[in-house]
Amino acid sequence: MLNIVLFGPPGAGKGTQSQFLIEKFGLIHLSTGDIFRRNIKEGTELGKLAQSYMNQGKLVPDEVTINMLKAELEKYPDSKGFIFDGFPRTQAQAKALDALLKEKNTSITRMIALEVPEEELKRRLADRAVTSGRLDDADPEVIQKRIDVYMDETLPVKSYYENQNKYCGINGVGAIEEVTKRLLDEINTLI
Ligand code: AMP
Repeated sequence: MLNIVLFGPPGAGKGTQSQFLIEKFGLIHLSTGDIFRRNIKEGTELGKLAQSYMNQGKLVPDEVTINMLKAELEKYPDSKGFIFDGFPRTQAQAKALDALLKEKNTSITRMIALEVPEEELKRRLADRAVTSGRLDDADPEVIQKRIDVYMDETLPVKSYYENQNKYCGINGVGAIEEVTKRLLDEINTLI
């Protein structure tokens, strides 16, 4: 199985790049942000809980997020592999993901991080706010909070994968196709 964690700060292009990779390699895309937004739209209890954190740019608690991810993974017993987008965002989530994959006799193949400077991220998120309808993209304070949370809580996940020799950073600046090419160059070394 090919199991990729696509990593990077909000606005790095994880969702955009995932779309290409799922088609090219026939992988299942698991974006915890998308799953939370779907729950919000459907008015579920999980959605109501998640919304209160998301609107403030904070992380949804680990236990809730991990249980949700576990339930999603179980929906695809025959998958050729997964792209994890926006997960894991904490060390506890990274450990839980390892345990869940171990139960399926598989593991993370590579964490690939899209590296984009903070000023560029803020520009992209402000642009995306016009089309995405996402409340958390529209408010500069919430954007800043999300970037701060990324630096404090999520960036340490990088060393978790570095310690397993599974981390790779690529330049996330440039045209979408250019970044895709860099991703493909890396993934082609794995298959
Ligand atoms: P995203 O679509 O990945 O930018 O996520 C949007 C928001 O959903 C984040 O700011 C968090 O509030 C929440 N979220 C998404 N993924 C996670 C996660 N793995 N752990 C905790 N909260 C998450």
